[in-house]
Amino acid sequence: MTHPESTPPTPTESLPTELDRSMMHRAIELADEASALGEVPVGAIVYDTATGEILASAHNTREMHNNPAGHAEFNAIIQACQSIADWRLNHCTLVVTLEPCPMCAGLIVNARIGRLVYGTPDPKAGAVRTLYQLCDDPRLNHRCQIIPNLEQKQCSQQLKDFFRTLRDRPQSDQ
Ligand SMILES: [Zn+2]
Repeated sequence: MTHPESTPPTPTESLPTELDRSMMHRAIELADEASALGEVPVGAIVYDTATGEILASAHNTREMHNNPAGHAEFNAIIQACQSIADWRLNHCTLVVTLEPCPMCAGLIVNARIGRLVYGTPDPKAGAVRTLYQLCDDPRLNHRCQIIPNLEQKQCSQQLKDFFRTLRDRPQSDQ
């Protein structure tokens, strides 16, 4: 089914705030740090939606810890829960440069994240809009507000640059 241009966003989608934008810029910097360490450049921040206090900031750590769960937003959610000694993050916003995968989208629902802001869609694993819609599926017991595609170009370029450098690197360097 195709939707006409005038279709309003679904009720769980909303527009970014200035705070979301500045948090996204921080997340992009974290992603840069990851790529300098040979990790896929994805960065994430969890902040208190009302006060703007940053509860966690993280990047991908899959290579350095040999951990398939070492995704930026997964790390950030665990850090945030530990920092406030609570597993419920209804009052928090998660900002991440890449659309979360099924594992992370599942954690977002389980942690009751209030708002999710992401940078660029992930055609291969995106589970918020692209392949699945796990974060606002009405059948699940929690739905978050979704703010998609914030600073999309910059987030997507960062990933493209990283993978291009990997491809261009001489074989002996790997
Ligand atoms: Zn993930």
